[in-house]
Amino acid sequence: MITILAGGTGSVKLVRGMYRESENITIISNVADNFWHYGLYVCPDIDTIIYGLSNNLDKKKGWGVKRDSFNFLKYMATLGTEKWFNLGDKDLTTHVLRTQLLKEGRNLTEITKFFTEKYGLSVFVLPASDTHYESNIVTEGNKRIHLQEYWIKYQGSVPVCDIIYKDIEKARVTLPAQEALEESKLIIFAPGNPITSIGPIISIPGMKNLLKKLKNKIVMISPLISNKAVSGPCEVYMKAKNIPPNLRGLIDFYSEITSTMIFDQLDKSEIERKIKNDYPEIKFCYTDILMTNLRKESLLARYIISNF
Ligand code: GDP
Repeated sequence: MITILAGGTGSVKLVRGMYRESENITIISNVADNFWHYGLYVCPDIDTIIYGLSNNLDKKKGWGVKRDSFNFLKYMATLGTEKWFNLGDKDLTTHVLRTQLLKEGRNLTEITKFFTEKYGLSVFVLPASDTHYESNIVTEGNKRIHLQEYWIKYQGSVPVCDIIYKDIEKARVTLPAQEALEESKLIIFAPGNPITSIGPIISIPGMKNLLKKLKNKIVMISPLISNKAVSGPCEVYMKAKNIPPNLRGLIDFYSEITSTMIFDQLDKSEIERKIKNDYPEIKFCYTDILMTNLRKESLLARYIISNF
């Protein structure tokens, strides 16, 4: 079994490739994006993975269901409600049903299994934790805003002073997620945002110690190419956490819990000349890690499967 730690829009590309190329994968999904909206429990990263694997994802947007309509939102707006978060009509069925199941007493792991089965997927998507905790952006004046609200409602317009994982001290990694990590022959950190996708998973109390023990089978795929994020606010968040927003900063961030790191060929010379010697325990590998289409997702997945 191969287990992949994943966020949303960047991670899903590799997860899709691995799902096509490997018989037996398990995904541990970030849950720190989850939030309540209109009384519904929304899990953006879990849904992106499930829609992505079942070919329902709106690939252009990177979130939501393809060819969705937005009538619900339009009617909500006529009643004067805020409509900053885009909830499509088809997408809404997931949130309504998930909320109902939560209210019936099912936990997020059980509910996510229900959805993966309904979407016909032969894969385990495991929430990292069944306990709610959330990524908050800290802005000037110590104001805390949920990551989704910051990014979608405020369009990332306010300076980011810090990112915290509110209530993470109460979170525990679920037993199925822990077992998946222990039993896997390979653990992959998808090329997700290190602060808001992979960071919240590896920061759950107890996780770093567990991952240190499993380090020899952990492979990280870089979300940075030529010192820049392929998409999204990766550098902004790294800076806010006082991590140099470049390859060295990324390598240092994961160095204690990873034995292999895969970077783009474009970065080979910089890493080999300037960085590698400072991290003698890490194996650095290079290939094309830019996934601009399904073929490239599969190529990267095949590279991983055949080399590790
Ligand atoms: P989010 O939850 O929507 O923020 O998505 P993720 O955290 O899963 O993905 C965002 C990260 O994926 C960003 O840091 C991007 O740089 C990275 N990313 C996006 N597309 C690619 C790609 O094709 N290749 C690689 N290596 N990284 C990518």
